[in-house]
Amino acid sequence: MGIIPFSQQAVRKEFFFIKTHIPGDTTIWFCGAFWAAPATGADSKAGTVVHEHSHSDANTDDLTYGQTNARALATSKPDQAVRNADNYEYYAGG
Ligand SMILES: [Zn+2]
Repeated sequence: MGIIPFSQQAVRKEFFFIKTHIPGDTTIWFCGAFWAAPATGADSKAGTVVHEHSHSDANTDDLTYGQTNARALATSKPDQAVRNADNYEYYAGG
């Protein structure tokens, strides 16, 4: 995982919430959509913080996004689900 070029971020969920992923950096740079998200529940501020800190604290990646895809990954490939940031997000609050 490294710094994602801005043009590639546009197609990723994080584009709406943060600016970059920097390995080892625990700073989360929130973008405008973060503040419009609900405080708790699916795709919320709380879930986003869990998601982003799973990258820095548990070295997760973004193998897939969204509740449906995360649930399917957990069912079909649990060894990959433990490495996927959205699985932590939805486990914690989605
Ligand atoms: Zn992510």
